[in-house]
Amino acid sequence: MTYIDVILPLPLKATFTYAVDEDMAQRVKRGCRVLVPLGKKKHYTGIVEKVHHDTPGGYEVKYAFALLEEQPVVLPNQLKLWEWIADYYMCAEGDVYNAAVPAGLKLEFKPKVETHVRLTSTYRSEEKLQQLLDSFPKRAVKQQELLLAYLQLSDFFEGGPHEVSKQDLMAFSHLSNEVFNALVNRGVFETYPFVISRLTDDARSLSGLKPLNNNQQRALDEIKQCFENRAVCLLYGVTSSGKTEIYTHLIEETIRQGKQVLYLLPEIALTTQITERLKRVFGSSIGIYHSKFSDPERVEIWNKQLSDDPYMIILGARSSVFLPYQQLGLVIVDEEHESSYKQQDPAPRYHARNTALMLASMYGAKTLLGTATPSVESWYNATEAGKYGLVELKERYQEMQLPDILPVDIKELHRKKMMYGHFSPVLKEKMEEALARHEQIILFQNRRGFAPMIECHDCGWVPKCVHCDVSLTLHKYTNQLVCHYCGYTTPVPHICPECGSQDLRNIGFGTEKVEDEIKEMFPHARVMRMDLDTTRSKTAYEKMIRDFEKQRTDILIGTQMVSKGLDFDHVRLVGILNADTMLNYPDFRAYERAYQLMAQVAGRAGRKGERGLVVLQTGHVDYPIISHVIANDFESMVQAQLSERQVCHFPPFYRLVYIYIKHRDRLLTESMTAKFTAQLVKVFGSERVNGPMQPAVARVHSLHIGMIMLKIESTASMARARELLLQVQHLMMQVPQFKSLQVYYDVDPV
Ligand code: ADP
Ligand code: ZN
Ligand code: ZN
Repeated sequence: MTYIDVILPLPLKATFTYAVDEDMAQRVKRGCRVLVPLGKKKHYTGIVEKVHHDTPGGYEVKYAFALLEEQPVVLPNQLKLWEWIADYYMCAEGDVYNAAVPAGLKLEFKPKVETHVRLTSTYRSEEKLQQLLDSFPKRAVKQQELLLAYLQLSDFFEGGPHEVSKQDLMAFSHLSNEVFNALVNRGVFETYPFVISRLTDDARSLSGLKPLNNNQQRALDEIKQCFENRAVCLLYGVTSSGKTEIYTHLIEETIRQGKQVLYLLPEIALTTQITERLKRVFGSSIGIYHSKFSDPERVEIWNKQLSDDPYMIILGARSSVFLPYQQLGLVIVDEEHESSYKQQDPAPRYHARNTALMLASMYGAKTLLGTATPSVESWYNATEAGKYGLVELKERYQEMQLPDILPVDIKELHRKKMMYGHFSPVLKEKMEEALARHEQIILFQNRRGFAPMIECHDCGWVPKCVHCDVSLTLHKYTNQLVCHYCGYTTPVPHICPECGSQDLRNIGFGTEKVEDEIKEMFPHARVMRMDLDTTRSKTAYEKMIRDFEKQRTDILIGTQMVSKGLDFDHVRLVGILNADTMLNYPDFRAYERAYQLMAQVAGRAGRKGERGLVVLQTGHVDYPIISHVIANDFESMVQAQLSERQVCHFPPFYRLVYIYIKHRDRLLTESMTAKFTAQLVKVFGSERVNGPMQPAVARVHSLHIGMIMLKIESTASMARARELLLQVQHLMMQVPQFKSLQVYYDVDPV
């Protein structure tokens, strides 16, 4: 009798064993999909992990229903990677399967057809369109708004119309289906089916590699030399030194040898720009992969990577470590310091950089980590620990100087009442100058802990989420209060429910508030806001980047998103509106993070043409970190951090595991967390256990959260530590009242 062990897309530790009939036994292979029953009613698409002949004992084995294909869809190295992730990050293989495989492969897959929108032939001429816009009745302003949104999204007047899906249009415009249907009935819009395929070759002309300058050539030679006896190399190159050009040369050499390349980026917004640059050189040998692609698109790419004609280069965000690779030769992790490489929720809480290192080692491939501000961990690995090679590139391309950084003491200015909202007189003046010279401006506003809220001026009441312990964020344009943890939404109240006062005021500020202030100060400037709210769809991202590149926007305001690797030619001035929120964050990485953010944002200034200028507003001009940023003194910053981390037992000298415990009942959560802590102290000793700790938000989705921090020496066996930890969990779960608690782990939290 033949059996198969199957991974199901469920958060369960174990695989399930099924019997297969004679015919299937002939054909089934490791990595194939099978349809299997579970319980009385359910069935799932599982992945065969093992084919064997050991009859399982103790229960009646069910038969697998069907084998879904003859050739495996998951390759042996992928299964090996899943196993590693489940083990290292302490989650179920089913969690990894869920994250790794596009949903379409978990069901029967049909190519997906999307509904796209266009103007009817009547209105495709500009003249007709203009007449229409002029003649809209007053009561149809929403229709007019939707039409304008379409024109904007499709780039109608500027090189368009580009394809627009109905879904993207609705997300972009925030208008209702009724408004949409009204425009269809009016004969303005029509819809048509659009079969999604990203896999069409695009026929742009290739431009070949750019020759490297001497510094870049030297760095490339050093990297290649390093790869002769090392698997991993850290490229520490200042912003705009041409790291991307160096990658391009390495990629070209790798694919010339018939091997594939994975190029990882931390942010989807970034893929847009880098895609353009790489496509000019590599044309259709490059495939893009990230979570903003629709599921059918992802299935298509997955299948292509299994075929005889796979993309040689995959450019993508963290989930692209899960694609099938046939012959991986090189992995590039760009902006390797970025914390967004770590998945937070749900499991698997994996770090894509570290997972990529593991993936590369499975193929004997080389890994290049690139950044202008290395993470403390990677820096340590490349210096004191001697694990990675280190190559430095300290000159910007064309000897452009790094930007001049001007610190501004906003505490003093606030006291003297000299601030214009959040703008110092200097920043305002520099912005005026830049606008007069038709230069573009980037403003950075770190939103963390600074979301706009409303507050009752009389009694101090602040609206809170009903499910989570957080205040609700004010979204002015939709006039709603939103919970950023669970999505709970409620209209803005007119009177205070506590005291009945009508004096409800907006406090805090996010990017929306900054946008308003700019509109007041510079009514003629074209302003664009880039944050999570404005970039929900792939089209919206691409459009913003395109608009800014083409100088259709003067001022770009954004959160972290604007700090990462974007390359614009006409930006000379960058403003950091308030560095203090980054400095005051209670986390051992706060200082490192703040340095990286400021240096990266500053790096967007003066990449071409004239030397850039950064206005850095802070209430702490005297902090050492501010001088480190101004002097571009990464090494002093990192040395200070390393000594502190050694003393305080933090990475890279210790590995951290956060243990989370969740339940609806607060007291139960608290008592379990306390008992769990006590048991951990018994096993690991009190110096390795911190807890119970207060998580930043102690209740989410109506669940109370307990948290414990475990610290293990980097020199100790992590496998052994995990084993002991799971034993403690097992012991705790024996207590009957604790059985209903959820326990999960965050290994190497960021
Ligand atoms: P980094 O990735 O280090 O921030 P980039 O690779 O984006 O730097 O380079 C900065 C800018 O300089 C880009 O616009 C890039 O096209 C240009 N550049 C860098 N090196 C070269 C080169 N060798 N030839 C032509 N242009 C270059
Ligand atoms: Zn009140
Ligand atoms: Zn909530």
